Amino acid sequence: MAGVELVAVGTELLLGQLVDTNTPWIAQQLSATGIDVFGTHAIGDNRERIASLVRDVLARRDGAILTGGLGPTVDDLTKEAVCDALGLDTELYEAALTQMIAVFESFGRPMPENNRKQAALPRGSRPMVNPNGTAPGFIVFASDGRFVACMPGVPSEMKPMMTAQLLPWLRERFSPEASIFTRVVHTIGIGESDVDRRIENLFRESENPKIAVLAHDGRTDVKIMAKAPDSAAAERAIAPLQSEIERRLDGFVYGHDDETLATAVATSLHVAGLVVATAESCTGGRLAAAITERAGASQTYAGGVIAYDNAVKIASLGVPQPLLAQDGAVSRGVAEAMARGACTAFSAGIAVATTGIAGPDGGTPDKPVGLVWFAVAMADGTTISRQVRFRGDRIVVQTRATTYALGLLWRFLRGERD
Ligand code: ATP
Ligand code: MG
Repeated sequence: MAGVELVAVGTELLLGQLVDTNTPWIAQQLSATGIDVFGTHAIGDNRERIASLVRDVLARRDGAILTGGLGPTVDDLTKEAVCDALGLDTELYEAALTQMIAVFESFGRPMPENNRKQAALPRGSRPMVNPNGTAPGFIVFASDGRFVACMPGVPSEMKPMMTAQLLPWLRERFSPEASIFTRVVHTIGIGESDVDRRIENLFRESENPKIAVLAHDGRTDVKIMAKAPDSAAAERAIAPLQSEIERRLDGFVYGHDDETLATAVATSLHVAGLVVATAESCTGGRLAAAITERAGASQTYAGGVIAYDNAVKIASLGVPQPLLAQDGAVSRGVAEAMARGACTAFSAGIAVATTGIAGPDGGTPDKPVGLVWFAVAMADGTTISRQVRFRGDRIVVQTRATTYALGLLWRFLRGERD
C-alpha cells in the first residue's frame, strides 16, 4: 500500500500566526482513499530546508504532498525547493500560462509580470489546473518514480484541486485495495457516557467496522468506520451495525453524515406544517443564526427577537413586568412567556425561547452562571420548559444552550411533552 508524508509550507505556520487546516483535511481525504499517511510536517519559507525535507521524505516513502508557497511573491519558494531536491530545472507550461491569463481576464485586469513565473513548472511535471486562483499545482517525479505533489496553500484553491485532480491520480496510480468509509450517526438529548453504555459491547466486539463515540458541544456522534474495497462492500458491513446502534439509541438519532440538527428541525417543522419563531436572551441570536444557516430556511422560520434587556422582553414579547420582578428574568415563567409572546409577535405556530446566565458574572447561589431556562410554546398554548446548568466559559454556555434549544424543539416536534 502507498505511503506518503504531508508538508505544510509557510513561516506563518511556525510562528503560530496561522493554524494549519490543510494537513488534517488532506489526511482525511487520503485515509478515505486508502493511502497511508506516515508523517506530517510544517516548515518555513526556506528553500534549503524545504528541499532537504523533500529529499528525506522521498528516501522513505512513495511520495510527498506539499501545500503553500506556490504564489508569485519572493517568499513563495516551494517550486524552486522541489527542483533543487530532485535536480530538475523548470519549463514553461503554455497551458498553465493561458489559463492564468484567462483567470486575470475574468477579474477584468491584465496579468502582472511576476505571475508569469507561476506557469514555469519543474521539468516533466504533470500540471494541475487551478480554476479558483492563479497558481497551478503539479505532480513531479524523482528518477526512481517517487512523486512530489504541490498544491496552493489557500484552502479554497487546494481542496477542489485535491478532489478533482490529485485524488483520482493517486487512485489510478496506487489502486488501493481498501479505503475507509465512514457513517456518522448524530444524536441529541443523550450524553456521551449514556451512548457509550448502550453500545459498549458492539464497540468491543467490532474490529472492522470500528466504532467511535465523539462528544461535541451538547451533541454526541457515533462514527462507524469500515475498511472495504468499495462503497457497496462498506455499506454491507456498516448497515447491520448502524441499525443495531440506531435501535439502541432510539428517540435520540436526528440524522446521518452531513445532516445538521437545524436541518432535522426544519424537516420536522415542514412535516408538521409549522413555522417557528425565536425569542432569545442569553444565546444572543445564535439560535436564529443556526436556524438560518441552511438555504430555504424561510419556509419554516418566521423571525426572532433578541430580548436581552427586560424592557425588550416586555415591549417586544409582552412578558408581564410583575413576573420579571417576582421570578427574575432567568425563570421558567419568563422563558414560557417569551415563547408564547414570540408566537404572537411573529404570528408563528410555534416558538422557542432561551433565558439564562452566560457568565462570567451575574451568577448567584440560587441562579449560578451557566443556568439556562428553555421553553417551547405552540400558538394554542401548549408549552414545555426545561432548566439546564451548563459548565464552561461564556462561549461554551452560549453554544451548548443553542444546541439544547434546537434539540428541545426537535424533541417537542417528535411528541415530547412532559
Ligand atoms: P498564493 O498564490 O495565495 O500566494 P500560495 O500557494 O503561495 O498561495 P501561501 O502563500 O503559502 O500559498 O499561503 C497563502 C494563504 O493560504 C495563507 O496566508 C493562508 O491564508 C492560506 N494557507 C496557506 N497554507 C495553509 C495551511 N496549511 N492551512 C490553512 N491555510 C493555509
Ligand atoms: Mg503565497
